[in-house]
Amino acid sequence: MPDAPVTAPSRDAGSLERVWAEVDGAAISANVRRMSGAAPRSACCAVVKADGYGHGAVPAARASLEGGATWLAVVTASEAEELRAAGIDARLLVLGPLTADELPRALACDADIVAWTPEVLDRAAALGGARVHVKLDTGMGRLGARSPELATALVRRCAEDPGLTLAGAMTHFATADELGDRYFAEQLAAFTDWVPVVREHAPEAVIHAANSAAILRDEATHFDLVRPGIAIYGMDPFGANPDSRELAPALSLRAALGAVQPIRAGQSTGYGRRWVAERDGWIGIVPIGYGDGWRRGLTNAADAIVDGRRCALVGTVSMDSVAVDLGEEPVAAGTPVTLIGTDGDERITAEDLARALGTINYEITCGLGPRIPRR
Ligand SMILES: *Cc1c(COP(=O)(O)O)cnc(C)c1O
Repeated sequence: MPDAPVTAPSRDAGSLERVWAEVDGAAISANVRRMSGAAPRSACCAVVKADGYGHGAVPAARASLEGGATWLAVVTASEAEELRAAGIDARLLVLGPLTADELPRALACDADIVAWTPEVLDRAAALGGARVHVKLDTGMGRLGARSPELATALVRRCAEDPGLTLAGAMTHFATADELGDRYFAEQLAAFTDWVPVVREHAPEAVIHAANSAAILRDEATHFDLVRPGIAIYGMDPFGANPDSRELAPALSLRAALGAVQPIRAGQSTGYGRRWVAERDGWIGIVPIGYGDGWRRGLTNAADAIVDGRRCALVGTVSMDSVAVDLGEEPVAAGTPVTLIGTDGDERITAEDLARALGTINYEITCGLGPRIPRR
């Protein structure tokens, strides 16, 4: 135990938030350019659902448009309304299944909708003027018409009904991120076989299939429009280091240490005494916990960067805090720590955290809660 000081000095944290996410719009724009560069003959539809994968839908949308995207995609009617309320007037595609309440709201946003059943076309036609993308399920086994025959019937219906416009035709891959599997090629072949039928009925329809992984994996998926999501936020669709595909992570997560405390060998921190100090030293209390989306599964399984120094996060993640082992060198309370992002020569990525949790990078940023302000 260091003799003095018994309490660490405090740093003026007056203007800082407790915890915050810094979102780099220029990085998102650059990532959109990077993905468009990989699909140079296709238009780019930036996917900003789930609050822009946790980055903030409106800033993510603006940065994407700045980077050359001409379409935006969301899942719900509320997400479409949020973009329109912010004055964003780009072409907008609502991907999700829409309830009876959501369908007119999506259309009131002048959004394109996705359909795979005659019932949705009936409802959309009754409302009038809907731009529809017919979705063929080529193997995701989720949303979409389960056969090309059904999908073609929907295409024909759109072409004939004056209340409907066939704006596009699409599918979605189940295994684009699993390099080397054969299912991806089978899905692509099934979709590619169907495309001429669509073109025959609606030569103007926009054909699209590719998510981020598919864009990078096979240019035969590009068609008229690509739909990158994860990659525009600078996370790797294959879960690897984003540098390997020239993607720049757009989100940094930081917190100001809420307290710095001495700890003696044998003393513990947190619920359940899941970490016991082996030697005398200092711990910092990082004011983030599972109430913010910093998952309890990260207990004794992640690091933070403190003044450029990588330190282990220790003890049980609680709702509002987790401890960091500062070793023998205390820092001032209020010192900013980096949980995701770069400080000095050290970097922690969403992919690192995903690996520790046995999940995917998508879930890391989407899981950051509303208590964390985005800057
Ligand atoms: C979420 C989503 C995307 C984007 O996928 P990424 O893997 O994040 O690139 C594309 N298309 C559809 C239909 C989606 O739901």
